[in-house]
Amino acid sequence: MNRRELLKAAVAIPFLPGVIAGCRGLARAASGGALYTRVRPGEAGWPSPAQWNEFNHAVGGRLLQPRSPFTASTAACKEALRHLDNPYYIGDQPALTQTSGWAGAWRSQPSAYAVAAESAADVAEAVRFARKHRLRLVVKGGGHSYQGTSDAPDSLLIWTRHMNAVTLHDAFVGQGCAGAQAPQPAVSVQAGAMWIDAYDAVTTRGGRYVQGGGCTTVGVAGLIQSGGFGSFSKHFGTASANLIEAEVVTADGVVRIANACTHPDLFWGLKGGGGGSLGVVTRLTLRTHALPPWAGAVYGEIKASTDAAYRALIAKAIGFYQRELLNPHWGEQMMFRPGNVLHLSMVFQGLDQVQADALWQPFFAWVRAHREYTFVEPAGVMAIPMRHMWDAEFFRRHVPGAMVADDREGAPRDHVLWKGDQGQVGCFIHGYRSAWLPASLLREDRQAALVDALYAASRRWEVSLHFNKGLAGAPPEAIAAARDTAMNPQVLDAFALAIIAGSGAPAYPGMPGPGPDLAEAHKAAIAIDDAMDSLLRVAPGAGSYVSESDYFLRDWQRAFWGTHYARLSAVKHTYDPEGLFYVRHGVGSEGWSEDGFTRRA
Ligand SMILES: Cc1cc2nc3c(=O)[nH]c(=O)nc-3n(C[C@H](O)[C@H](O)[C@H](O)COP(=O)(O)OP(=O)(O)OC[C@H]3O[C@@H](n4cnc5c(N)ncnc54)[C@H](O)[C@@H]3O)c2cc1C
Repeated sequence: MNRRELLKAAVAIPFLPGVIAGCRGLARAASGGALYTRVRPGEAGWPSPAQWNEFNHAVGGRLLQPRSPFTASTAACKEALRHLDNPYYIGDQPALTQTSGWAGAWRSQPSAYAVAAESAADVAEAVRFARKHRLRLVVKGGGHSYQGTSDAPDSLLIWTRHMNAVTLHDAFVGQGCAGAQAPQPAVSVQAGAMWIDAYDAVTTRGGRYVQGGGCTTVGVAGLIQSGGFGSFSKHFGTASANLIEAEVVTADGVVRIANACTHPDLFWGLKGGGGGSLGVVTRLTLRTHALPPWAGAVYGEIKASTDAAYRALIAKAIGFYQRELLNPHWGEQMMFRPGNVLHLSMVFQGLDQVQADALWQPFFAWVRAHREYTFVEPAGVMAIPMRHMWDAEFFRRHVPGAMVADDREGAPRDHVLWKGDQGQVGCFIHGYRSAWLPASLLREDRQAALVDALYAASRRWEVSLHFNKGLAGAPPEAIAAARDTAMNPQVLDAFALAIIAGSGAPAYPGMPGPGPDLAEAHKAAIAIDDAMDSLLRVAPGAGSYVSESDYFLRDWQRAFWGTHYARLSAVKHTYDPEGLFYVRHGVGSEGWSEDGFTRRA
């Protein structure tokens, strides 16, 4: 629906007061003149020093000119190199992103200016300033975008890092929802918080559960707008499906509340419609759940001595998954590696040690009974009280090495990350593909084809099946809630998201050293594509998870949002008719040049 059609519809449906009032305001804002090209520093129209000063005053002195520590000074560069594996350090740098770049795609580069926002009012000031002066606007929270969508040179950055308050509620009702929505336990999280901030307050200190991401340093706002999966999403659903309400600054610079009762279309779009396209989220309120007593992990690595034995091992693992693990208890990954290696990195909740052991015993016994297989990493099952799932102190004492702490002086005690996530900090991506695999592939008559595809793919590159990133096997209420989000509906029927990806060492511009190995990156990207092609032979038309996907995807609208794209475009048109919020491969971005500076005629 275009704006004129929408306004016509609004007149025809006078009993939609909230929507109509919102649209009127936005339509007025949209009539301020066509916006075809954004300005860069030094160009006519770039704000004068006096205008920047005035703006700085309006945001309480929180305007910065970010410099990469790698180019700022020798001391800053040394300091940055020392902390290159610490995502908390990187997150604290307005000039850096958690991924250093992607071969042939993008490199991490600072914005011209940044507002270190501390409130929705700061954000609104920045939105209005960017709009008035035709600036390229970019928003960064946790900075974990693989595609570099929180990074744009010559832009004004809204940096939400310092907006990280977390508030628990016993009985939350969305604004305007009294009488329509039962009060429920919830947590409000400011947009710049990382998931560890929420987990510490909700689980470690509060004894409840909130659905967020697996990686502790991912930002809450980016993940919710992606759709969002955590290790336990097979039980609690996607993170965005647990959203009750968002506070968001729209393109007209107005702070709005979006929930099921107020701006429901915007609310729907924020749930998985992709980060940075519809507005700047300043606060999110999420449902919390009773905490299951136990959670745990299953780990190990098995090597087969022949190709035939490896194929048999894949068949055994897939059959075992389909029979025993395709249910709300189980999440995370099996990785099928070149060299005939199966790596297990599974998690569970709602089962204790004895139950989880009993379930895996037959699988491990089968492996041990066949001399073609060896455990190259010992297999094991470990349950812990779920209350301690993100409890840094508990892990320090009982499972040392599983978590790594922010080692800077004065760092909060809960600022930790999973050791397994550390390899990704600052990485330079060579290739990244993902595909939702439909549960029909697990049917007995399709399993052999799936196994063949996994085997063929593993000849070229490692394939990870992220079982928690597809909702087949989840409880009906989790599926129903996810159905009411903007995500590609394929996620509802997928048993896993297959991810095939590769990267090299950090390669921030200005870093000492030879820089990224582009020849190696090119080779890897080809192998990754080959591997994904093998998988797609059994899953033609598979959708892809917006935030864990290929930068170079052509049919991204279909892949990320499927049948929801038209509705999402209509939401974009209503709330951001001029396209102030641009991210590459975000909703509405087809109307702009790749860098987001020029609107296509
Ligand atoms: C190491 C790593 C691990 C990951 N693990 C998971 C996982 O377990 N589960 C999962 O589902 N995903 C995962 N992801 C993907 C991740 O959820 C997305 O990349 C997410 O968008 C990151 O959010 P962020 O705030 O950290 O990143 P940013 O780069 O800051 O933001 C991502 C996007 O959201 C926009 N955005 C950020 N804040 C706001 C805001 N306040 N308002 C409007 N737009 C905003 C940005 O403009 C950008 O387009 C992972 C990514 C990485 C790099």
